[in-house]
Amino acid sequence: MAKRKFTLSKSRYIRGLQCHKSLWLYTHEPPELRNVSKSAMASFQQGNEVGAQAHNIFPGGTFIEFDGVPFDVQISETQKALKKAKVIYEATFSYGGVLVKADIMRKVGRNWELYEVKASNDVKDVHLDDVAVQYYVISGSGVPISKVFVTHLNKEYIRKGDLDVQALFTSEDVTADIKAKQAGIKTEIEKQQKMLAGKNAPKIDIGPYCSKPYCCDFMGYCWEKMPENSIFDLAGNGVKKWPLYKEGIVKMEDIPLDKLKGQQLQQVKTFLNKKLVVDLTGLKDFLNDIWYPLYYLDFETFRAAVPPYDGLKPYQQIPFQYSLHIQKRKGGKLYHKEFLAKPKCDPRKELLDNLLAEIPSDACVLVYYQPFEKGRLKELAEQFPKKAKHINAIIKNVRDLLAPFKGRALYSWKQQGSHSIKKVLPAFVADMSYEGLEVGDGGEAIEAYQKMCKVADDPKELAKIRKALLEYCCQDTLAMVRLLEVIEKKMAKSGPT
Ligand code: SF4
Repeated sequence: MAKRKFTLSKSRYIRGLQCHKSLWLYTHEPPELRNVSKSAMASFQQGNEVGAQAHNIFPGGTFIEFDGVPFDVQISETQKALKKAKVIYEATFSYGGVLVKADIMRKVGRNWELYEVKASNDVKDVHLDDVAVQYYVISGSGVPISKVFVTHLNKEYIRKGDLDVQALFTSEDVTADIKAKQAGIKTEIEKQQKMLAGKNAPKIDIGPYCSKPYCCDFMGYCWEKMPENSIFDLAGNGVKKWPLYKEGIVKMEDIPLDKLKGQQLQQVKTFLNKKLVVDLTGLKDFLNDIWYPLYYLDFETFRAAVPPYDGLKPYQQIPFQYSLHIQKRKGGKLYHKEFLAKPKCDPRKELLDNLLAEIPSDACVLVYYQPFEKGRLKELAEQFPKKAKHINAIIKNVRDLLAPFKGRALYSWKQQGSHSIKKVLPAFVADMSYEGLEVGDGGEAIEAYQKMCKVADDPKELAKIRKALLEYCCQDTLAMVRLLEVIEKKMAKSGPT
């Protein structure tokens, strides 16, 4: 009996290029085996929005309906459109065992130009593979393509008033690159189809391709047996992990120490002896650089590919929430202030007005990972120049609680090499963690805020989400308060230095 021949889609072909096993599992195993990250789903939604906006670069085109429409109908509608339309959106073609949809096709003379829209700020290598297979299929179907473009967001565009679609997008001519890629495509398609006809998943071990160019959604399955505290938990640059893995070294304790140096060596030694690293000079330097009143600040933000408000660039962070713990003097009473924007509005002005009313120009502002909070403050100063003086004074007074942990003035093996507050907090403050919070990280906070915008007319649901968001952001600044206490206690215990 002849083996079944699988038709590939463009996205399946790209998945197969990354890893044949991933394509096999995706095709043959139930979807429950996959673990699609929230960020991947959010990227998918952003991609749809960007794609729809990009159609307006060449308005008035023929849209090939695809929702609930069989592929053969999409293909025949495309053939009809090719005869009379000047611009086609979502044109569908099948050739050589692959089915593709083209975001935009534009007729120029007797030929067509192909535009692949990407919700990114530049052209990436994987985009070229994506367009190369489109070119292969469309030109193989007999449609002459003169030029191929990747259309992406223009990172310099700043929204002012109505969206200027021509300025929002940049199209880069990649014709030469994708022509150079044509030679290998037929063979790769045949390899993928042969592999898919197999009864079992190909025997492919984990590798660097598990996270490049995309984070594979079968990592939960393929990496299931990876022990906690493995070589992949080694932080920073230094020893290359994949060559170690190839040598059969997987557990942290199995790494020969002579292969390590710097922070990686310190990480493994600390893991082996389960002792704390305490550098009193580093802690003292940090404490000498902060003062009271002390304001512990944390922002929550979201980003939109298409800037929703004036003064914003594509993917620019938009702060919608902050938490502020305040201590007027060392060991003094703790006050808490917070702000969470109302849904469906530009949150920046109200947030800034509240923040500036809280933080005096001479207060020390403690954050965790200062490039983030400083970056948002700097952007707010640009967007609201009348308030820039006060904002710049705050920026000058920002100090970073991450510094003593990143510099390993204080380090616990429980952090597993990470300096994220989510790892540092439970390592030092046993009664506090992010486990069990309804909103447990920045990604979930964004998701919750977006959900708030969707349920804006449902007060009960809105109140529930607000509570979860306020609780989460408050936890971030309270965590900083507790971590500073840890540092101060270490210093106090050590006596005079
Ligand atoms: S996790 Fe890695 S090995 Fe497993 S399917 Fe994905 S890319 Fe392939």
